[in-house]
Amino acid sequence: MNQTDCPSLLAVKHLGVAFQTDQGQVLAVDDVSFELKPGQVLGIAGESGCGKSVTALSLMRLLPKPVSKIKEGEILFKGQNLLDLPIDAMRKIRGKKISMIFQEPMTALNPVHTIGRQIAESYSLHFPGMGTKEKNTASSQMLEKVGIPDARQVMKKYPHQLSGGMRQRVMIGMALACEPDILIADEPTTALDVTVQAQIMDLIFQFRDTIGMAVILITHDLGLIAENCDRVIIMYAGTVAETAKVTTLFRHPFHPYTKGLLQSIPSLAQTAKQPLPTIPGNVPALSEMPAGCRFAKRCERALAQCENHRPRLMSVSSSHFAACHLVHDGEKKIIFNK
Ligand code: SF4
Repeated sequence: MNQTDCPSLLAVKHLGVAFQTDQGQVLAVDDVSFELKPGQVLGIAGESGCGKSVTALSLMRLLPKPVSKIKEGEILFKGQNLLDLPIDAMRKIRGKKISMIFQEPMTALNPVHTIGRQIAESYSLHFPGMGTKEKNTASSQMLEKVGIPDARQVMKKYPHQLSGGMRQRVMIGMALACEPDILIADEPTTALDVTVQAQIMDLIFQFRDTIGMAVILITHDLGLIAENCDRVIIMYAGTVAETAKVTTLFRHPFHPYTKGLLQSIPSLAQTAKQPLPTIPGNVPALSEMPAGCRFAKRCERALAQCENHRPRLMSVSSSHFAACHLVHDGEKKIIFNK
C-alpha cells in the first residue's frame, strides 16, 4: 500500500485556536485542516507568526494556559480525538506516540538536571517497570544512536556544558527514546550552523527510515521543505493558504502568496545588483483580520469578492488545494466539509 492509500495517522479538522490579548480574543489559528499518513514527512511553512508553532503545540496540547484555548476542531490520532482525552491519558501519548523537538533546546532541556537524568525520565514515564540500570543502558545507547561520542560521560553533564548541536542531538534522543509514531520538529535547525543543520536533518531521517515514524517539519526554510518533505502546507495569517505534494507545489504553485514566497528565494542566477523580489505590505495583525481573504491587501490579483468573502480550501488538481477565489469554479471541491 502506498502512502496515498493508507488511512490517516493524524487528521486535524477545522482547528481553531484563540488567544486572549489586550485587544480581546483573537484567532491565531483559524479553520486549519490536514492529514498525516504513516511514514509521511509533512512540511508546514510560512512567515513568523503565521500559526505554524501554535498548530504544533495544539497537537501536543501544550498551548500556554490560560491565555490560549482550542476553540474548535478535532485532532484525530489513529481515529481518537486528542482533545477529548483526560490530561493523564494525553501525557501517555506525549513522548511515547507523538514527540516534539524545539528550535532552541536550552529552553526545552531542564538546566538543573543532568542529561542522563532527563533522558531516563522519558523511560520512567512510559515504561514504569524499567529498572535504573536498564534505563541508564537504554539512555546511553540512545545517545550513541544520535551520534554523541562518549555517551556515559555526556550523561553526567548539564545542558550548558554542551554545544548547540550536541544539545539538539540530546533533544532528538529524548524525543525518539520511545520510538514515537509522529515526530514534530519545530524549526529544529534554525539556531545551528549549516553543517550541523545538515547532520541534524540526516539524523531525523535516518530514524524515520528505521522506525517508520511520520514527521511534521515546521520551518520558514522552503529549501529544507523541498529537500526533505513529501507534502507541504503553506500557512498565512493563521490559515492554510495552499497544500500539495512538494513536487507539485514547487513546480506549479497556485496561491499568489505561495508564488510570492517562492519568488523571494535567492537564486544563483540572480546578479548581486538585482534586488530580490519581495511581497509588498505586511501580514495583518491578529486583531485586525479582514472578513475576506487575509492576503487581499498584498495580492496583485485580488478580485472584487476577495475583500469580503473568505476563500475556503478548494481543489486545484488531484491532492492540490488552495484557499483562493482564483481556483476555477468548475474544479471546486471543498475538503473536510463541515
Ligand atoms: Fe488574492 Fe483573492 Fe486569491 Fe486572496 S482570494 S489570494 S486576494 S486572488
